[in-house]
Amino acid sequence: MAPAAGAAPAVGAVPAAGAPVDAVGGTDPRAHPGPDTGLRTVASGDPDAGMLALVPVRDGQLPLGADEVVAEAGGRVWLVGSGVVEAAATLAVPARLLRVSELGVYAPAAWAQALAAALASETVVVLPASADGRDLAPRLAHVLHRPLVAGAVRIDLHGATVVTHHGGVETDVRLAGPAVATLVPGSRGIAAGVSGAPGPGATSGPAAPAPSANEVTSVVVSVGMGAGDPELVELVAADPSTVDLAEARRIVAGGQGLAGPDDGASTQRFDLLAAIGARFGASLGGTRVATDAGWLPFERQIGTTGVAVNPRLYLAFGISGAVQHVTGLGDPDHVISVNTDPSCPMMGLADLAIVSDARAVLDALARLIAVDPAEPFDPAEPVDQDALPSVGGT
Ligand SMILES: Cc1cc2nc3c(=O)[nH]c(=O)nc-3n(C[C@H](O)[C@H](O)[C@H](O)COP(=O)(O)OP(=O)(O)OC[C@H]3O[C@@H](n4cnc5c(N)ncnc54)[C@H](O)[C@@H]3O)c2cc1C
Repeated sequence: MAPAAGAAPAVGAVPAAGAPVDAVGGTDPRAHPGPDTGLRTVASGDPDAGMLALVPVRDGQLPLGADEVVAEAGGRVWLVGSGVVEAAATLAVPARLLRVSELGVYAPAAWAQALAAALASETVVVLPASADGRDLAPRLAHVLHRPLVAGAVRIDLHGATVVTHHGGVETDVRLAGPAVATLVPGSRGIAAGVSGAPGPGATSGPAAPAPSANEVTSVVVSVGMGAGDPELVELVAADPSTVDLAEARRIVAGGQGLAGPDDGASTQRFDLLAAIGARFGASLGGTRVATDAGWLPFERQIGTTGVAVNPRLYLAFGISGAVQHVTGLGDPDHVISVNTDPSCPMMGLADLAIVSDARAVLDALARLIAVDPAEPFDPAEPVDQDALPSVGGT
């Protein structure tokens, strides 16, 4: 529901009389340098300053939506966190400005304080709306004295489109000054060809820079104590049965082809699929047919009106591969499809296409890895990771 042309609400500080005004008419963030950040060296004098992707990294893993924010910011990116050099090597979008800073353990309040001064010259700082991005962005906006544009599906120096009410309401926002924004993963996609082979969910996103080698500039940032950061007591591995599907690295999904003779039997099939998936450290998802029928809760629906995902491994059981489903799939490294129809779109996308009855394959898998269909699935039961078959890189 976009407002009429020219009526977009504006966000951003109204410049006080005599205050410095930047290119888009807002208060210059350099007027608010904030506390001493301890920043020791920072690349400066970038003639292209304007929009920068800030990507929080954990253990060398890029978060969901990282490549999309890099593309949205025209290839200007700063990776911060742990294992940033390793993460930089996995960027699918070529960066024309690539900074990395090793900041250690995730501490959003301290990071916001430490990074603010170096980000003050950027008109728009955009983070992926991943778990850490959604956490860091408001803290950064607070330290920089800027408005937060949360849940954007498009953003540039002058405005953004944001979605609310679970994607039901779309609003155009005009930026009246510098801002911090989060970009919803899966909303832009990566332009076909940018990352080599386009993935199943790749859409024509923003114009991406021409491919080039990523040159990494290491920036040393000193992180002090951040008031409000929680004390880390223990890191608990994500439970695949409850993890947000958007963050899942492995997904097993079912569709109409997995249905039983009635809803009860179909629900049992999906429970078995969940139990088998848990053995592989994979989360359960499905098509709209499955969620509409009640075999799966709605938050497990993948697609345009469900969740946008981006797993490394995607196993599809009895899924035709309708466009509304695959546009939510991201860019998986491996797709395995089980279907009786060898010519359906999902089989065309698959690296491994198994022409077979999905229910029979599920039963065979259950026997192979000793999952008892009659036994209730206990998500709290720990998964023996060592016993899992290895999947390259996932
Ligand atoms: C506005 C709109 C929004 C939508 N949003 C979404 C969305 O977000 N997500 C989504 O998923 N869909 C969405 N849909 C629905 C989408 O168009 C498809 O109808 C849906 O994805 C199909 O789901 P499916 O693959 O389970 O079923 P089908 O398309 O019916 O496919 C079933 C597949 O199972 C195979 N099959 C049958 N029997 C067997 C067997 N025994 N073993 C193995 N394979 C078998 C068939 O060959 C077929 O390929 C949307 C539709 C609209 C109009």
